[in-house]
Amino acid sequence: MICLGIEGTAHTIGIGIVEKEGDNCKILANVFHMYKPDKGGIHPRESANHHTKYFPKILEESIEKSNIHIKEIDLIAFSIGPGLGPCLRTTATAGRTLSLLLKKPIVGVNHCISHLEIGRALTKCSDPVLLYVSGGNTQVIAFMDGKYRVFGETLDIGIGNCLDKFGREVGIKFPAGPEIERIALRGKKYIQLPYSVKGMDVSFSGILTASLLLTKKEDIEDICYSLQETCFCMLAEVAERAMAHTEKEEILLGGGVACNKRLQEIVKIMAEERKAKFFCPPDEFLVDNGAMIAWTGLIMKESGMEMSIDETKVRQNYRTDEVDVKWR
Ligand code: AMP
Ligand code: MG
Repeated sequence: MICLGIEGTAHTIGIGIVEKEGDNCKILANVFHMYKPDKGGIHPRESANHHTKYFPKILEESIEKSNIHIKEIDLIAFSIGPGLGPCLRTTATAGRTLSLLLKKPIVGVNHCISHLEIGRALTKCSDPVLLYVSGGNTQVIAFMDGKYRVFGETLDIGIGNCLDKFGREVGIKFPAGPEIERIALRGKKYIQLPYSVKGMDVSFSGILTASLLLTKKEDIEDICYSLQETCFCMLAEVAERAMAHTEKEEILLGGGVACNKRLQEIVKIMAEERKAKFFCPPDEFLVDNGAMIAWTGLIMKESGMEMSIDETKVRQNYRTDEVDVKWR
């Protein structure tokens, strides 16, 4: 079965075309384009306009790359939430249109869960704790009693948002994470920042404020280094606590911030120290992408979770633990 999946919850519009043969996940195409504002943060309407503009191009490119005819597609999947309202509605409209036009079934996919499912499919881990670190979301997720449950999360902003906001104030363009990673490599001195772990939750706004205050007196290299070390160790700590609590022996990374090599290193060390296994899919499947939506759509369809058009209303605040996980 072949699925065309559309991702468009926030800054990225992406289309993935994925074939499922048994348990095998075959990526036929994974094309995306990211909205990057010239200044300021992501404006939801501007980002939605970006998605509208790029959708036809990305559709054409993905079909071309996949080497299939559009008529060979068996299923349409789209990111139904959580995310920014205008972006979600644009993406859902594109999904419904394709579904009606091609006369193929449609499923709306929870974005956070799709990060976990594509990680499971591509790295072959079976029952991991997912450390999901992206722009807007930061959650520690694991499967328990029929649902994906959130064991810990940010109490304020997402880790990527923290990095991007810091970058914006010091003149680094969105997305700032990769540039902060490069600058941090030159850092030599660790400067104490307000390490904020509360049980299995984390908080980044205090660290952001403190880091910005430091820019008046410290080198940017040392601040970027300290910012990363502090935030990433917090994330490793809550992920480890969730592993201990759930007695799971696999840790999986997901979300754009997981592209960061230092974060990968820290989490890997944590895993090794507790004799657990570390998993991380390639970068193109860590950032927001259509392939993860397509794959999750396929496993949902297999367990009978296709939707009528009426059921495809977007869900801005769709929680990870609201999803009835029929496929596990
Ligand atoms: P996502 O929302 O999952 O697509 O991820 C986008 C977020 O990932 C943005 O906040 C980026 O700044 C962040 N990001 C991407 N690459 C890196 C990196 N190498 N290090 C830290 N953050 C990153
Ligand atoms: Mg994401």
